[in-house]
Amino acid sequence: MLRPEFASRVTLKCQACGTSHTANRPLWACPCGGILDVLMRARFPKESMALRAPGLWRYREALPVALNTPPISLGEPQTPLVAVALGAYRVYLKLDFLFPTGSFKARGAAVLLTKARELGVTSLVEDSSGNAGAAIAAYAAAAGVKATIYVPARAARAKTAQIALYGAQIKVVAGSRADVADAALLAARSQYYASHAWNPFFLEGTQTIAFEIWEQLDGRVPDMVISPVGHGTMLLGLAKGFDSLRRAGMTTHVPRLIGVQAAACAPLRQAFRQGGSELSPVQPGPTQADGIAIGRPLRWRQILQAVSDSGGDIVAVGEDAIARSMSYWARRGLLMEPTSATATAVLEDFAASNRLQPEQVVVVPITGSGMKSAVSNTEVVVGDGS
Ligand SMILES: *Cc1c(COP(=O)(O)O)cnc(C)c1O
Ligand SMILES: [Zn+2]
Repeated sequence: MLRPEFASRVTLKCQACGTSHTANRPLWACPCGGILDVLMRARFPKESMALRAPGLWRYREALPVALNTPPISLGEPQTPLVAVALGAYRVYLKLDFLFPTGSFKARGAAVLLTKARELGVTSLVEDSSGNAGAAIAAYAAAAGVKATIYVPARAARAKTAQIALYGAQIKVVAGSRADVADAALLAARSQYYASHAWNPFFLEGTQTIAFEIWEQLDGRVPDMVISPVGHGTMLLGLAKGFDSLRRAGMTTHVPRLIGVQAAACAPLRQAFRQGGSELSPVQPGPTQADGIAIGRPLRWRQILQAVSDSGGDIVAVGEDAIARSMSYWARRGLLMEPTSATATAVLEDFAASNRLQPEQVVVVPITGSGMKSAVSNTEVVVGDGS
């Protein structure tokens, strides 16, 4: 049972028509078709947090789930924040590939599935042939919820195999990435849509990376965070998480957010450069960064606003720089997937061209494990979304 006081603490606000909905039924979009955001007053009570193990469930008062709802958990760790030297600079890598599913998408899936179970959901659909599909499939399995994942015919095999092994039903859709999304949307008329792009509870989960960074830096917030961006689940999570900390009085400033796209698919960068009032969808070119090969990011307005509010930027990197950075870090012992190496490529570029200040605290989330891509990406694959 939801406590009445709790139910009123969480609302879902529509970006299009402004309507606020109560969060006590399985709603993933506004009936008007608009995108929903979770609104709640996050709290960070030191005493309650200290009683809980490190990890994302430590921040329950900042998550839109009733305090007595049992979390769907696969033992999510507080991921390490590792200081590394880069030329004259010291920067931090946040090892978010160390989740049970091999990517940070576990953050979003854990909170989404916990909320879904709280709402009585028994079956759901998602469209993703990548880390998001795998994370939703894993947490659905842990929750005992039936998952159907729609994937394009040209999906990376290692990730599709992972989704199948978790027991999710896979529906292969011929055609473009948009056709896959359309098929899932159709199915979502009768089932809960666990879309990492649409479903606002996914972002509520990814924001926990900001809470962990804040605690790991002893209550400070970095000056800059550099993150890959496609649909924005990492970048918007960072923005939302740091903003929650600011509104709760835990910090006075928030980091500059640098979103990184692959040059082969950079609609957000182009829109940001052109002032941010419109976005021209692109047809993704071939890229190793298949996790962010998103030609038309659903929450593009919100992403551009978050980057602009933070005083940040959106940049693009080429395939050579991605491959070079991935290999550079692998030779320092860190195997990441190419999508993650878009952000480290920018980090190296900023360091090499002295665009960092020596005293600045810079964090780069390492979003996905190189274990899956090392097998399937030995040659360049065409982006199929995340
Ligand atoms: C999903 C994903 C991202 C971020 O992508 P968004 O589309 O912006 O959510 C980055 N890296 C990896 C490895 C991913 O799977
Ligand atoms: Zn609406």
